[in-house]
Amino acid sequence: MKILITGGAGFLGSHLGDTFLARGDQVICMDLGSIAKVQHNFNNPNFVYVRDSVLNDAMVDSLVSQADVVYHMAAVVGVEFYVDDPYNVLNININGTQTVLRAAYKYGKRVVFTSTSEVYGRNPKVPWAEDDDRVLGSTRIDRWCYSTSKAAGEHFCFGYHKMGLPVTVVRYFNVYGPRLDALDRGRVITIFLGQALRDDPITVVGDGMQTRCFTYVTDAIKATVEAGLRDEAIGEICNIGNDLEIPIKDIAEAVVRLSGSKSEIHYVPQEQIYGNSYEDVPRRVPDVTKMHRLLGVSADVTLEEGLKATIDYFKPAKSSAGE
Ligand code: UDP
Repeated sequence: MKILITGGAGFLGSHLGDTFLARGDQVICMDLGSIAKVQHNFNNPNFVYVRDSVLNDAMVDSLVSQADVVYHMAAVVGVEFYVDDPYNVLNININGTQTVLRAAYKYGKRVVFTSTSEVYGRNPKVPWAEDDDRVLGSTRIDRWCYSTSKAAGEHFCFGYHKMGLPVTVVRYFNVYGPRLDALDRGRVITIFLGQALRDDPITVVGDGMQTRCFTYVTDAIKATVEAGLRDEAIGEICNIGNDLEIPIKDIAEAVVRLSGSKSEIHYVPQEQIYGNSYEDVPRRVPDVTKMHRLLGVSADVTLEEGLKATIDYFKPAKSSAGE
């Protein structure tokens, strides 16, 4: 099969590409960002890298026409971007998704749209099943622009599905592992890890009792592959996550312990990290019943195993941390 992955040079896209290549499939990776996560595939005859934007209609049209399955993963992601550059988040995530879906509809190609647990916002009733409510704050709080952009993408998916497009939506819950962002950037694991590897204070926002469910990348990728292959998944939304709920302060402690760091844990007001345009999600937990039933996958990698592998990957980067 020929698989087109938009955002194929990113964290999840690069792992997904590796997995399809290992199965013997062909992968077209379309991305604008750094090639660091896919460079190892450049000599593989089954791998094609196209450096372009999902906003380029003509290129998207041409690549989609060649593919059997399209994974649309290109997006602007990371809380720092939601609060710093909401225009870019909304523009790329909403308009890029329309470009991909338009082409897929034209050629009748199967699409997997990678969405997010952010879609549920801060709905207090956890765990969240796929049809549960979205509970968001004001549009003056930039943090919610990502959730809104992905939800708009989902609506477009289901709009096209009504017209006959075979599409599946998956929602990830805090996926982590090797190649996640860069130290000190992006998401909490890489931020804490950068601090821990330098023995700097770990910046836990608030009291650290807010929770997340951390999903190791290999588990997330297994489910993502199935979402694009199983006929039963067409027209469906599926959470992809581990349902072990962990307070952020426990993650800070685990990162310190497993990396052998001397860092102290500091509790800091959220404004110090994100300014006034941020609102935290107090609890985030997936209902994974559908993932087991529909995709036949369960998230088995423990936090200890996953964090160790992530630390091993990032340790050599310690000296360049913060650059
Ligand atoms: N967080 C933290 N310290 C940091 C960065 C993040 O305590 O330096 C917290 C953040 O407030 C949130 C959780 O870690 O409760 C996860 O944040 P992340 O940015 O990874 O993404 P989110 O899950 O909120 O989308």
